[in-house]
Amino acid sequence: MTRIALFPGSFDPITNGHVDVIRAGLAMCDEVIVAIGQNPSKTPLLSVDQRQRLIAEIADDLGGAGRVTATAFDGLLVDLARERGAAVVLRGLRDAADFAYEMQMAGMNAAMAPSLETVFVPARPANRHVTATLVRQIAGMGGDVSPFVPEPVRAALSR
Ligand code: ADP
Repeated sequence: MTRIALFPGSFDPITNGHVDVIRAGLAMCDEVIVAIGQNPSKTPLLSVDQRQRLIAEIADDLGGAGRVTATAFDGLLVDLARERGAAVVLRGLRDAADFAYEMQMAGMNAAMAPSLETVFVPARPANRHVTATLVRQIAGMGGDVSPFVPEPVRAALSR
C-alpha cells in the first residue's frame, strides 16, 4: 500500500522550514503532495503557478523518483485527502502560536474525516524563526533571503 501524505499551506514562497517538513514526511510516507492553498488574509507575492513550479524544481532534489508533487487546491483539505487517497496530513510546529491554531485545525479535520491523521513535525532549531511572511517582506525591500529559502526561490525572488 502506498502511504500518501498531504502537506497543505500557502508556500508563498516555499522556505527551508517547509523543506524540513517535506523531508520528515518522506521519512514516514512514500509520497508527499504539497497542496498549495490560497490564504485570503495574506496578499500573495507569487502566483500559485509560480509557487507550484518552484516546488516542483525543489522536489526533484528532495524526493527523487516523483515522491514529491505539488498541486493547487481551493476546497476543503479533507476532500482533497479523500480524492488523492492520502492518510496523513503534515503540519509544522514552530511555536505556541502555531500549536494553538494547528490543534484547532487538526481537531476539526479529525471530526470531518476521522481516518485522516494529522502529524505535527517540530521545526528544526536552525529554521524555527523562518516564516514565509517575513521572507516576502525582506524580498520586497531588496534584502538577501538566501539563509531562509532554497536557491531556486532566491533566484526567482531576485527577479
Ligand atoms: P507560513 O506560516 O510560513 O506563511 P504556510 O502558511 O505556508 O507558511 O505554512 C504551511 C505549514 O508549514 C504550516 O504547518 C507551518 O507551521 C509550517 N511551517 C512554516 N514555516 C515553518 C518552519 N520554519 N519550520 C517548520 N514548519 C514550518
